[in-house]
Amino acid sequence: MAAGDAADMATRKRCTECRQRFTSTARGPIVQRVCGAACRASRDRKLARARRRREIVEFRAEERVRQAEHRGQPPVCHAPSSARNQPELLDEVVDFVDRSLRLSRAIMMRDITVICRSKRASVG
Ligand SMILES: [Zn+2]
Repeated sequence: MAAGDAADMATRKRCTECRQRFTSTARGPIVQRVCGAACRASRDRKLARARRRREIVEFRAEERVRQAEHRGQPPVCHAPSSARNQPELLDEVVDFVDRSLRLSRAIMMRDITVICRSKRASVG
């Protein structure tokens, strides 16, 4: 084998994506693994997929942040409380306080118990 043949073998490679033979560039004869831009994009997607599979917890955390940013909202760690119940509950509390100010302590305690039971039943 001549010295020229060895140099040719160092720069002639097989693409890891399309399996076609290619000549690597002068800058990348050792690390270049793909023949062109299309195969580079394909290889990048494959490596990213492998990383997501390998680091699934990190990927999901990053994905939550990315999606929240895309929607223009700050990321949340849990679902917000039901908005439907909040005005209803506020009205109930205002009514309850108004009546309590007028009525006796015993009736106030009875009302508190009724509200707590109804809220517990609707939640659980
Ligand atoms: Zn290729």
